[in-house]
Amino acid sequence: MSEKTFADWQALSEGLQPEGRAFVQGRYCEAAGGDRFATLNPANGLPLTLVASCDEQDAELAVGHARAAFRRGDWSTLAPAGRKAVLLRLAGLVERHAEELALLDSLDMGKPVRDALQVDLPAAVHCLRWNAEAIDKIYGEVAPTGPDSLGLVTREPLGVVAALVPWNFPLMMACWKIAPALAAGNAVILKPSEKSPLSAIRLAALAREAGIPDGILQVLPGYGHTVGKALALHPEVDALAFTGSTRVGKLLTQYAGESNMKRTFMECGGKSANIVFADAGDLERVAREAAQAIFYNQGEVCIAGSRLLVENTVKEELVERILHHARAWQPGHPLDPQSPMGAIVDAAQLDGICGHVHRALAQGARLRLGGEPVLTDGGGCYFPPTVFDEVHNGMALAREEIFGPVLAVIGFDSADEAVAIANDSPYGLAAAVWTQSLDQALTTARRLESGQVFVNNYAGGDMTVPFGGVKQSGNGRDKSLHSLAEYSQLKTTWIALSGH
Ligand code: NAD
Repeated sequence: MSEKTFADWQALSEGLQPEGRAFVQGRYCEAAGGDRFATLNPANGLPLTLVASCDEQDAELAVGHARAAFRRGDWSTLAPAGRKAVLLRLAGLVERHAEELALLDSLDMGKPVRDALQVDLPAAVHCLRWNAEAIDKIYGEVAPTGPDSLGLVTREPLGVVAALVPWNFPLMMACWKIAPALAAGNAVILKPSEKSPLSAIRLAALAREAGIPDGILQVLPGYGHTVGKALALHPEVDALAFTGSTRVGKLLTQYAGESNMKRTFMECGGKSANIVFADAGDLERVAREAAQAIFYNQGEVCIAGSRLLVENTVKEELVERILHHARAWQPGHPLDPQSPMGAIVDAAQLDGICGHVHRALAQGARLRLGGEPVLTDGGGCYFPPTVFDEVHNGMALAREEIFGPVLAVIGFDSADEAVAIANDSPYGLAAAVWTQSLDQALTTARRLESGQVFVNNYAGGDMTVPFGGVKQSGNGRDKSLHSLAEYSQLKTTWIALSGH
């Protein structure tokens, strides 16, 4: 755990010269068209560096290199133990550069550097190690045939995988994609969000140092509608691994169908219900975790517990306790280790949050805390913990993903009503149930239309369990062997034998 102070982090950031170029065929280069854009620090609105703005030309070049590298076979047909060794080296390098990478993510998108260092970086390293360790322990199948044949079912890499990732956990999300994709033997083109490209660009050089062959991991920074779209439409890209909004996920599914019917693994938005029954027990603990569920990472979390469904008999008590905890989540400078929340990623996102708050007020929700941007003097984007009560599920506040620190509290009187409200959403990413009754917990968990359900906790889980949604939250799974399996395809080889 880092002992660094605010001043230490500031000094480190002043000495940092982030690389902004694309990484193609094993080297850094400007975008083919020469365009660049400034990536801004949301803590003060100032530019951090200029970044290559890749477009169709860069996608064309990178896909060509990726295809050639895949066919070359020095990665795709390397023994799994060989890929494991390289990925373990990469994990070690990421670990060694953890402070630098955490700082890049914090400066780029505003999360507290403490969280980046203590949560995102260890998770990224663990994901690389876990997939590296898994890949040489997965066997193929021999089918139960008769004596005159042998049926082999083996797994092969998909080919060229484009990974398009968001800005809320930049390095961690990138590793959730590239670790299984590379372990499985694919060539990967990583397209980080235009709002947070710096850690992915740095990761590319570490991958090369670890021994990933040229063309096997390339990084193309740039906008979604230019380079992202070009990758999604490209006929030589075999799969799209996407994490981002449902709106863009739908577009990508369309692009895949319009082009070569490439596979798409979609990890999209959420509006998760955190359901608290009157028999939840320790309401103080529930309140603490419910606050963390919505305010952690400035609320910019796909599984944020943004709808708190509370049994009416305990609602006021729980809301009072949550307000108490919420007040402690005031935002501060992301490089200050004392800041529980950092800055909102950019001005556009901040405007969007304000718009949601104004609509909620107009629709009659009761504002109990927050509601206006704070710390506006220094040019940064900050929004305080905000709590709305007396919300009903028809309000935009309860239906749309806000991706900010805004909690909507909805009361209910029965389990049936709670389940009906929770499921009345286009999303199905996560949900939680708090109750001391095992029967209530498991019965409710079964009825929830959600890719994951937390019982008496919020956001629990580790690399051993899949992470992903149902409905319009997507169809892909990150983490676990299920994620690793997505990055390979099955081949059947049927061999005729003489049978005697
Ligand atoms: P986004 O959809 O705007 O962008 C995600 C990525 O897609 C970025 O790299 C972006 O440049 C790219 N993109 C945008 N338009 C594109 C286009 N037309 N063609 C190709 N690529 C395009 O999402 P965001 O704002 O970066 O991230 C926030 C969203 O991500 C939220 O909805 C959040 O819930 C979701 N998210 C989901 C998960 C999950 O695991 N389900 C995890 C984290 C974030």
